[in-house]
Amino acid sequence: MSLKFYNTLIREKEIFSPIDSNEVRMYSCGPTVYNYTHIGNLRSYVFADILRRTLKYNGFKIKQVMNITDIGHLSSDADSGEDKMTKGLLREGKELTLKNMRELAEFYTESFKEDLKTLNIEMPNGLYFASDYVKEDIELIKKLEAKGFTYKTSDGIYFNILKMPDYGALWGGKRNWNKEGARVAENSEKKNPEDFALWKFNEKIGFESPFGKGFPGWHIECSAMSMNFLGEQFDIHTGGIDLIPIHHTNEIAQSECASDKKPFVKFWMHSEFVDTGGEKMAKSTGNFLQIKSLKGKNISPIAYRFWLLMANYRTKVNFNWEVLEGAEIALKRLYKLYLGLGDKVGKVNLVYQNKFREFLEDDLDTPRALPLLWDIIKNESISPADKKATILDFDKVLGLGFENLKEETIPEEITKLVEKREEARKKHDWAESDRIRGVTGEAGYSIDDTSSGPEINKI
Ligand code: AMP
Ligand code: ZN
Repeated sequence: MSLKFYNTLIREKEIFSPIDSNEVRMYSCGPTVYNYTHIGNLRSYVFADILRRTLKYNGFKIKQVMNITDIGHLSSDADSGEDKMTKGLLREGKELTLKNMRELAEFYTESFKEDLKTLNIEMPNGLYFASDYVKEDIELIKKLEAKGFTYKTSDGIYFNILKMPDYGALWGGKRNWNKEGARVAENSEKKNPEDFALWKFNEKIGFESPFGKGFPGWHIECSAMSMNFLGEQFDIHTGGIDLIPIHHTNEIAQSECASDKKPFVKFWMHSEFVDTGGEKMAKSTGNFLQIKSLKGKNISPIAYRFWLLMANYRTKVNFNWEVLEGAEIALKRLYKLYLGLGDKVGKVNLVYQNKFREFLEDDLDTPRALPLLWDIIKNESISPADKKATILDFDKVLGLGFENLKEETIPEEITKLVEKREEARKKHDWAESDRIRGVTGEAGYSIDDTSSGPEINKI
């Protein structure tokens, strides 16, 4: 069998092989750090993590680089609207300086890194701030300028898409805008509506450059940083589906025009969105949930990872508390069954391993791979020790935390609180029962009311 991934570039599944025999070079678009990362954003990193782990499971060495967007991303993915980092500083009542921008970025990056850890997402080999690579952005813009792809307007340096005959191939052709469209009105100096900023002038705050003081465009940072660390051509580029029409389309334009048409990336892979009640979860609208909000609801963050893996990464998922609670209960059950297998670790069952490989090799089909965990536990012809070894093997990819699972001893004060809650429930004192559940939740223990009584688990 061989690995097959859906490549957005050709809109079908394709057999994967890296450019350089054994190392896979991949770039993942990182977060814009003007606010906390939300659980929707984190789906794109869970997806990149499953991809990375699957490649490793298949014997490849990985070099994964991720950027942190801490400058240059405007409210619209095109070049209009407010700068997101400026918006973050204003929201927090901080003065608009480059130093404050960096501090804001570092604060939200730390929180992002915590989120990655909480979700068992392996750290990329390199995680870099865009503001540390402005020199590389400038060099790339100068290259494009020298080759005649750019022009200047009163607010910046732009890329002229008509100079690239196959502009928009990732998107599947031209976007649905005409020259009289709204976006032209936003900047009437643009030659074509899809032309995009490589550099935006800003007299008050910004970086010095040969073009004038200002900021690099959001797209140029990903071209410059990925090519700096991974070369002019690399294997895989990941991101959320919303990045296809503008950000990634423009990354291809800049990179391929600078490198004289060398195909920039072999595989473009995109994860679908997490919706909340049919609405897009977005940092900009404030309609978002953080991973730490799950703990407040007595749900372990890893249950979110488990829930995401129940759907293929290319399927849109609709988040609500009931589905997540369902995932939490199922995961806890799995944990319990796993702990019941004893201490001995035997041999990986090859029949199950082959099935697992087959599913993952088919475009990371986690919804078919996950049920194998239940199947193997139920299979009476396999010894507990071999079951354990096989589950631990699968978990190298799934990352559900089986390895560090220990039988939890519940502290006495928690058991006492749960007994008090049972008494309150008998008296139909729901307020007191909820209060106690809140207290145990704060202490890191969830209570599930089952037909055989309350079940206490570590969150
Ligand atoms: P941002 O921090 O806005 O630059 O986005 C970081 C990543 O999250 C990008 O790959 C986006 O495509 C992705 N993303 C943004 N919103 C969502 C969402 N609601 N569901 C899934 N992915 C998202
Ligand atoms: Zn990017």
